[in-house]
Amino acid sequence: MPTISLPTGEFIEVNSSPDECPRCNKHIHPKAIGAQVVEASRRRTLTMEAIFLCPNHECTSFFIAYYEQSLVSQGRGYSYVYKLVTALPRTPKKPAVFDGIISLSPNFYEIYSQASEADQRKLDQVAGVGYRKALEFLVKDYCCLKRPDDAEKIRATMLGPCIDRYVTDENIRDCAKLATWLGNDETHYVRKWTDRDINDLKALISLTLSWVETSIKTDQYRSAMLNGGS
Ligand SMILES: [Zn+2]
Repeated sequence: MPTISLPTGEFIEVNSSPDECPRCNKHIHPKAIGAQVVEASRRRTLTMEAIFLCPNHECTSFFIAYYEQSLVSQGRGYSYVYKLVTALPRTPKKPAVFDGIISLSPNFYEIYSQASEADQRKLDQVAGVGYRKALEFLVKDYCCLKRPDDAEKIRATMLGPCIDRYVTDENIRDCAKLATWLGNDETHYVRKWTDRDINDLKALISLTLSWVETSIKTDQYRSAMLNGGS
């Protein structure tokens, strides 16, 4: 098992070192440059905080890995090992979205990124509301792209009727409609879809994004090769 050295010269056994930097999110092999064992006042468990330096040249940030002492079986007996719990501070990962969608709706991408950040920070009471708002921008900007003459009406229409009226692609329409139903649940006092949660909402928005990506790419090839191409 790897060890981390304390300023006292003592070596502490740990189950692992962080293999991903929480600042740049890259896979790394970091080296601990300092550590201390912390005696929590209200808990019996000992914890350890270790400072690591990210070796990624584009990052080179410090971060702290938090360990908790636990009893593990080793060979024929048991011994205390510090188990890695988390590493902080954490820079949220930006969601991967097709470039064509980011250009189509920068507002969607900004809101979607913020919702994803809230989600990664376990702020589950606001993440769903953010996803619902992001979905509205995605669908309305997509409808404006397909029906530029109706742009003003599209922007003024509520999301549900907007999907029914202006989205003709069956896959986008159904996924966006189901996502809207679950998204509305995130904003209301009483949930209607009690057997569904934010993970279903995320899955449906992800499906909507895939179908919108397919639609944009198909239109790009269509206009480049079928209309005026030879
Ligand atoms: Zn890093």
